[in-house]
Amino acid sequence: MVIPEPGFYEAVEKAAAETYLKALTDVPADVRAALDSARRRETHPIGSRVLELVALNIQAADEHRILVCQDTGTPVYWAFIGSKLGVDGARLEDAIRRGVEAATRDHSLRSSICHPLSRENPQTNTGYRVPVVHFEFVAGADYLDLVMLPKGSGSENQSFLKMLSPADGVAGIKRFILESVVEAGPKGCPPYIVGVGLGGSADLCMVLAKRALLRPIGSRNEDPAVAALEAELLEAVNRLGIGPQGLGGMVTALAVHIEHAYTHISQNPVAVNIQCWRGLRAAARIYPDGRTEALAQWQLPGG
Ligand code: SF4
Repeated sequence: MVIPEPGFYEAVEKAAAETYLKALTDVPADVRAALDSARRRETHPIGSRVLELVALNIQAADEHRILVCQDTGTPVYWAFIGSKLGVDGARLEDAIRRGVEAATRDHSLRSSICHPLSRENPQTNTGYRVPVVHFEFVAGADYLDLVMLPKGSGSENQSFLKMLSPADGVAGIKRFILESVVEAGPKGCPPYIVGVGLGGSADLCMVLAKRALLRPIGSRNEDPAVAALEAELLEAVNRLGIGPQGLGGMVTALAVHIEHAYTHISQNPVAVNIQCWRGLRAAARIYPDGRTEALAQWQLPGG
């Protein structure tokens, strides 16, 4: 077991701030490539024009080092903790929170987080139980991978969960996913990355749908049956005709990613969590001595 040096938690705070800013200002390379490919494929004149405007939007953000979109989102992190790293979980969570506050303060980010009843906004992008932090463990590793996924409201509002019956079968699963994308329509800024959770319990299923958004575009689930469903659904979603920004076209989604878990014999949970074309995410690896490495193209462990 490696006990992190004193500077480790300061490095986590810095990485939390930097990944938040990077996720808001820089579109990941795989998402850029998918948007370029979509622009070449799109035949609908309005859909095609929207994709040109998206490219200009990204270019402007690159040139002026500004946010790709005004929404700073709900700050969501995944902490993948190496099993050989002896971290203090409470200090880790606190460091991530301080990183969000520092990024918000130092870069004048809009604070998007408020109390659910009073709507009071502390102007820090943090609050009770926010940032949202998920913890997972990686066997054999002695470092921490911190992955940041800000969820813009337009796309996060397009979240759906249904406890289907096992009798609904795979046909019911497909129908619900397609109905969810139709319900989202233009509201989450397509073309989408469609995150899908399959199985587990109701809560795990929704977490899996969001976890699916961490994967690079073009990756496939390692279970061949699930991977085949991803490919089939991507084709089906792109036949819906919703198109870029919902103005018509053949590119409604850049990817459909499914993460799954075993479930109860009498359950068939399906969740959909939509990500907008920005595909926001950024990752960093922090070593026990506090050294930090930005990870341009992060992969899920084992993915
Ligand atoms: S859903 Fe639309 S408005 Fe919201 S962050 Fe994404 S691109 Fe911006």
